[in-house]
Amino acid sequence: MTSPVSSAHSADQVPATTSAGASGKGGSTLRSPRQLADAGLIPETMLRDVGKVAARYATAIPPAFLSLIETPDDPVGLQVIPHPDELILAPSERDDPIGDDALSPVPGIVHRYADRALLKPLLICPLYCRFCFRREHVGPDGGLLDDMALGKALDWLRAHEQIREVILTGGDPLMLSARRLEHIVRALSEMSHVTTIRIHSRVPLADPGRITDALIAAMETDRAMWLVLHANHEREFSPEGRVAVRRMQKRGIPVLGQSVLLRGVNDSVSALEGLFRAMVENRVKPYYLHQLDPAPGTARFHVPVEEGRALLRGLRGRVTGLAWPTYVLDIPGGYGKVPLGPDYLDPGGDSVTDPQGQLHRVSDL
Ligand SMILES: *Cc1c(COP(=O)(O)O)cnc(C)c1O
Ligand code: SF4
Repeated sequence: MTSPVSSAHSADQVPATTSAGASGKGGSTLRSPRQLADAGLIPETMLRDVGKVAARYATAIPPAFLSLIETPDDPVGLQVIPHPDELILAPSERDDPIGDDALSPVPGIVHRYADRALLKPLLICPLYCRFCFRREHVGPDGGLLDDMALGKALDWLRAHEQIREVILTGGDPLMLSARRLEHIVRALSEMSHVTTIRIHSRVPLADPGRITDALIAAMETDRAMWLVLHANHEREFSPEGRVAVRRMQKRGIPVLGQSVLLRGVNDSVSALEGLFRAMVENRVKPYYLHQLDPAPGTARFHVPVEEGRALLRGLRGRVTGLAWPTYVLDIPGGYGKVPLGPDYLDPGGDSVTDPQGQLHRVSDL
């Protein structure tokens, strides 16, 4: 998708096999089906089938995240351990579920909304979510925009003065070297029309050892810098991960949370309550709960929208309003994100439902 790209690892990118040094877990990132079997994450009998999956979709489990997995089918393991069902394609699934490809004016840029654009400087992640909406693109061997491609992407942003906010995503921008990240943040900060920079990342929780002082310093800017942390279960908030998040907050970076509603991971009121409470307790404001995008081979994670709305309804009144995200669908085909409810206003417009489920007529609404 994003060619020209350099497919070789370079000095500008932290070697993908580096383990979470500062987290003290040791070991190296698990990538091959053989390593997964040796770690007890898949049975020997599944090696062949998981091999087919791993040949198609990137796999990585860094040591810090591995240490959070108690059993392979627990809410942490399910997110990252490849499964033969990923080879099953449901009729509604598509390679580019949210239509990014058609909205890319130059490699590395996706522009759907007038005032903001995505910049994807690389397609590497600390781990590879089995439900990823960009799974046809992300992986350890590609997607790092080379200097020329990055320069063109920055030129595009410089030339489009209606862009107020640049969202760094990928891949995971915190997999960049501090030097590369600093270069990008500085270039964006020199564009007078860019007031806000947002970074979407799983790194602080998935591989906290990568959040070095140098990486945090690379995010220093006089523009508003926001971090949106991707987490789907409270158990991802390890002691090391909490410290990594805190260190970024202490440098003045507000942190929001985004999650995907996933079967077997967080498809209960108590799991969502635990997740959003863990966020709030760590000064992370839940921002979006995403309806799963229909990427290939992800049907095992699908939770129907009506069920999602009922789960959120179950949270209302039960948890602090700070813990309440917007439940959103990225409309397949590239039409944008919209809230899915639940709704409390009666379609007739003159009654509302209270958190206990009782309807009340309200005059003058
Ligand atoms: C999700 C997304 C954004 C950001 O949307 P917000 O609602 O502002 O979080 C921007 N551009 C594209 C292409 C997106 O997919
Ligand atoms: S971190 Fe994001 S981009 Fe990377 S695999 Fe997970 S969902 Fe996909």
